[in-house]
Parts: sequence; structure tokens; C-alpha cells
Amino acid sequence: MVGDDMALDARGWMRGVRHVPSPNCDARPPGIAVDLVVLHNISLPPGEFGTGDIAAFFTNRLDPQRHPFFETIHQVQVSAHFLVERSGAIVQFVSCAERAWHAGASDFFGRTRCNDFSIGIEIEGCDDRPFEPAQYHAVCSLLSELAGGYPIRAVAGHSDIAPGRKTDPGPYFDWPRLMRMSAWPAERFPYQRWGK
Ligand SMILES: [Zn+2]
Repeated sequence: MVGDDMALDARGWMRGVRHVPSPNCDARPPGIAVDLVVLHNISLPPGEFGTGDIAAFFTNRLDPQRHPFFETIHQVQVSAHFLVERSGAIVQFVSCAERAWHAGASDFFGRTRCNDFSIGIEIEGCDDRPFEPAQYHAVCSLLSELAGGYPIRAVAGHSDIAPGRKTDPGPYFDWPRLMRMSAWPAERFPYQRWGK
């Protein structure tokens, strides 16, 4: 099963997943605790899956000629630590020890600049379609491994920490399912009402 052979190494890279290093990262502030996981969705072109364009985007190789939307974003420099593809396959772009550029202007209960202290997981999908069971399994495996290496206290959606500006992972992301599968306490999902 996806994730069974994953292991976080001392440099913040997950063994057992594909690595596609992105230049879109920099150092975290010294001494900061990485205690938040932020979940996103992404599809490129929007609504299409398995094109390879997400990896191209996160490594500044997106071809602006391939799609009209790409003309507007191909010079944007962003990244996430991980991408979970529709099959549940995981790609890592940035070491967890470094700051990936996924959250932008954001606020986690008064703590701003969430990129400083979070790990970003992009789930291949969109706001108007369900995610695949394999993707929930992969996210759970990632959460479990990450919690072994970092003092993770919470999981939030991008829309939770950037409300009004971001909608992902979107209404089709099944938070109760993730909470059940992870077997983590409800306190680690502070934006969800389920279980209260
Ligand atoms: Zn996002």
C-alpha cells in the first residue's frame, strides 16, 4: 500500500516517495517549531488530472503555450512540500526542513506567515469533485510519518488560514473521513466541528 515504506530522513526528505526538488523554497526562521500541516487542492490545467503540469509549475518549467491559464501563472514561484496524486502516489518537492511557498498571506489563530511553521500538502483535485480513497490513505500515511519527525499539533485547510482568499481543499474534501482514518484527536483539527 502507498506509504508503507515511507520514512522521513534527517534532512527532511521522505524516503519511499518520488523527489522532484523545487527551487521555490528558503530557510525557515531559526528555531521555529514546525507544528502545522496545511492541506490544499490543485489541478493543472484546472479540472484536469495526471498531466504532469503540477510538477512543472512547482519547478518553474510550466509551458505558457500549453494552456491559456498557464500564461497567467507560469511566472508565479510557488511550491509545496508534497503532492498527493490521484493514484495516491506522493511526490516531494521541498525538504520539510525548508520553507515551501504554499500558504501565502495566512493566519493560524493569530500566528501569521504560516509557511514559516507549516508543511504543505497539495492533493490533486478541485473544488467540485470528490477525492480518491487512495489519496486519503496517502495523506494519512504522510501525517503519521510527519508527526514522527515534527511536533505536529494541527491540520488546517488553506481556506481555514486564508479565508476569503482561498477555497481549497474545497467542499468535497471529507474532513471527517480523514479524522477517522488518522485516528488523531479532534483537537488536531481545530477548524472542524465534527466530534464536538
Ligand atoms: Zn492552496
